[in-house]
Amino acid sequence: MKTNLPVHNGEELDVTIIDLTYQGMGVAKVDNYPIFIENALPEEKITVKVTKTTKNFAFGDVVKINQVSPHRVNPKGRVYRQTGIAPLQHLEYSEQLKFKQHQVAELFAKVHMDDVEVLPTIGMENPTQYRNKAQVPVRQVQGKLTTGFYKKNSHQLMPIEDYYIQDPEIDKAIVVIRDILRKYHEAAYDEFHHSGTIRTIMVRRGYYSHEMMVVIVTRTKHLPMADVVVQEIQAALPEVVSVIQNINQKKTNVILGPDNNVLAGKSTIDDQLLGLTFAISAQSFYQVNPQQTEKLYQLAIDQAGLTGNETVIDAYSGIGTISLTMAQHAKQVYGVEIVPAAIENAKQNANKNGITNAKFVLGSAEDVMAKWEEEGIKPDVVVVDPPRKGLDAEFIKSTGEMAPKKVVYISCNPSTLVRDVQRFGEYGYEISAPVQPVDQFPQTPHIECVTVLTRK
Ligand code: SAH
Repeated sequence: MKTNLPVHNGEELDVTIIDLTYQGMGVAKVDNYPIFIENALPEEKITVKVTKTTKNFAFGDVVKINQVSPHRVNPKGRVYRQTGIAPLQHLEYSEQLKFKQHQVAELFAKVHMDDVEVLPTIGMENPTQYRNKAQVPVRQVQGKLTTGFYKKNSHQLMPIEDYYIQDPEIDKAIVVIRDILRKYHEAAYDEFHHSGTIRTIMVRRGYYSHEMMVVIVTRTKHLPMADVVVQEIQAALPEVVSVIQNINQKKTNVILGPDNNVLAGKSTIDDQLLGLTFAISAQSFYQVNPQQTEKLYQLAIDQAGLTGNETVIDAYSGIGTISLTMAQHAKQVYGVEIVPAAIENAKQNANKNGITNAKFVLGSAEDVMAKWEEEGIKPDVVVVDPPRKGLDAEFIKSTGEMAPKKVVYISCNPSTLVRDVQRFGEYGYEISAPVQPVDQFPQTPHIECVTVLTRK
């Protein structure tokens, strides 16, 4: 079909890569029309084959790299690139950090906030093997129950044993569990027919505590041979202190279902952060990069400027990690969180650490904030750490009306951060310190940063 686009489907052409998208794809332009290309890095000259065109942009595959970027590295090779475990692994780590700083700066510049200073990204010394949590799909591959990772943009399982960015003890545990499941002829989940038993294996391991939790996610209520399977897992993996069956009967991409059965041990594992101990349930959020999390939290604490007299609200508080670390330096902390298991953990965690000046409320941050405002709570500092979609406009409104001196915004998505900073501007808040990216997710394009807003 003839179109008036500058390139057409199936065409091969030579291009120079000029940028990386926020998903880590190379960008080339032909007559100002962008082509997005997987596994292509800035400064590279490549031959690209166009695979899809739309009105405003195209996608293409690398046919040949004619001039290689000096920053290209190749630690793990092709299978890893195809899986999306570590989409930036072909870019030298120091360049990944620059890429992230640049992405944040550019997003502010796009909305004419060029004056916002973005500091160099705080990286890790060893930017691999950092994840304290794995969620591995289980499928039948060539007649065998297999663990691995999906091929990018698909649900095709690629067998993998070394996940590169996960704690290697977790990688080993997954292989051990896989072999036990094979031994007892457990049926892997079949997504197409919605049949079989084992959907996912989730493993979490405390970075300091070395306590391990194994969650076996099943389609069925019944897990055949559960007793022996659990016994063998405990015998083979002495760090395991919690084995949980999670039941997810739905046809869905959501990993965990609503019901948990503790098959052995506790319903939580413990881990430490900044000297405090935290109980973590299967369903609760817990930062995946503990080493960087300590740096991130320390920054947030420093930025909050606490002297011991302040009232602090920690919104999106999870299991209370930020609330409880701040409670040690504040008069009173209020946390709000929407997941019941996480709130239960947060209350448990306050007790565990003997902290009595933190109160946790279950609910949506936007609703509870409005309620607190009505009740006349006057925070000096509001800390927010929302999921990728950022803050609800109502939440910002209530915060604006409560008029805290400072808002410390921990963001895992700079686009919603920029939007929310603009909204805070309408209530008289402006960025009062350089934005600090902290690399929580090396080898991936995800960006985390801390921003401080002060009331004019
Ligand atoms: N501050 C915590 C958790 C951050 S993750 C930590 O660092 O560990 C974001 C948290 O927000 C998750 O626990 C999620 O369950 C919670 N959440 C998501 N939407 C929410 C909402 N509308 N209101 C309150 N909490 C929400």
